Amino acid sequence: MKYFSTNNKNHLVSLQEAVFKGLALDKGLYMPQAFPVMPDNFFKNIKDYSFAGLSFELAKALFGEDIPEAELRSINEDALNFDTPLVEVQKDVFSLELFHGPTLAFKDVGARYMARMLGYFTKGYKKEIHVLVATSGDTGSAVANGFLGVEGVKVHVLYPKGKVSYLQEKQFTTLGQNISALEIDGSFDDCQKLVKEAFVDELINQHLTLTSANSINLARLLPQSFYYFNAFRQLPGVNKKLAVAVPSGNFGNLTAGLIAKKMGLPVDQFIASTNINDVVPEYLTTGIYKARPSIATVANAMDVGDPSNFARILEIYGFSHDAIARDILGFSYTDRQIKDCIAEVNRNHHYLPDPHGATAYLALKEFLSSNDEFHGIFLETAHPAKFSETVEESIGKTVEIPERLENFAKRKKISIPMSKEYAEFRDYLLQIH
Ligand SMILES: *Cc1c(COP(=O)(O)O)cnc(C)c1O
Repeated sequence: MKYFSTNNKNHLVSLQEAVFKGLALDKGLYMPQAFPVMPDNFFKNIKDYSFAGLSFELAKALFGEDIPEAELRSINEDALNFDTPLVEVQKDVFSLELFHGPTLAFKDVGARYMARMLGYFTKGYKKEIHVLVATSGDTGSAVANGFLGVEGVKVHVLYPKGKVSYLQEKQFTTLGQNISALEIDGSFDDCQKLVKEAFVDELINQHLTLTSANSINLARLLPQSFYYFNAFRQLPGVNKKLAVAVPSGNFGNLTAGLIAKKMGLPVDQFIASTNINDVVPEYLTTGIYKARPSIATVANAMDVGDPSNFARILEIYGFSHDAIARDILGFSYTDRQIKDCIAEVNRNHHYLPDPHGATAYLALKEFLSSNDEFHGIFLETAHPAKFSETVEESIGKTVEIPERLENFAKRKKISIPMSKEYAEFRDYLLQIH
């Protein structure tokens, strides 16, 4: 399979190059030239598969020409060594729990998969690959844990001092091995600027092989389509249409769902749910896309004002607003509505959503209230304990911290303090050998 840039259909690269580069040189996003459609037999037997088994079939269809089967099997089994259970919250409403990986958020899926794919492609390389990642919290922990112990790859996480939560910080500053954490005296934007400068610095690029692990990388995006099939596998066989509600920020998760549909998954309606950063829901109703600075909310992993995967959605639907708006409905919610929803679901259905999952739940319920020929799935993207402050304020009770998160808290933080001046970061990179 070849991959093209959304800015130039004739710019074709291999899977390996798309994964190494992340972003195309013309600043476009890579997309597969075709989406393989899964055969009827696959769907007939879908209930017999495990998550890893089902993912292996999908991976073979997507990556089978580029990665030998035995290697692909081990990438799959290693990366997806946890389940994504479907939990019935109430009649016709199911939660797809994507938070059973090591950092208790759905970003584990893409990060773990990408780490292993990169590990495969760099096998036999004489030089180490260096992953630079700027984070405001969740991405850093998923990437750092995803790459932990992967041979031939070193990860450098840049994060703003004092601006990530205590538990988030612990998740990427306590790992050791091939993971380093740089505590930058500045903002998240400063961190991102340092990373960007390093990528275009010729001397650094002569000295080190750099790559990014950000969410636009195909090796993170494509495997996310696998859990949509895993949700479908667990759905009871009811004769109803299927709606899937996705809490969205950069729209990678939703794009992966659209790709699953392209590969044959029978989803009748996608629902994009956002916090008040509603650039895409607004586009869906008006046809006008207006990027703007993001606003801070309680569902902060979705505080995005110019979603990076929007270009991919346009591409999938041939730039037709009508076609996009037919498949995807948009909703957006305020912090008040999100917090009230957490309380309501907890009180009436004895289920505890996190702020992001709650945003999707609200949209699904709003849709189902006037579409009773449907049942629906909302994606639960993080464990509620990761956002304990908001969740506890909503329900007026403390949230139990799962053992996996507690274990991070017990470990010792090791980070390298650094100013936001590029010269200092540059020296740090140049002294690596
Ligand atoms: C990143 C993230 C999202 C948003 O996902 P996108 O793919 O950027 O739309 C939603 N929920 C949580 C918990 C996240 O970490």
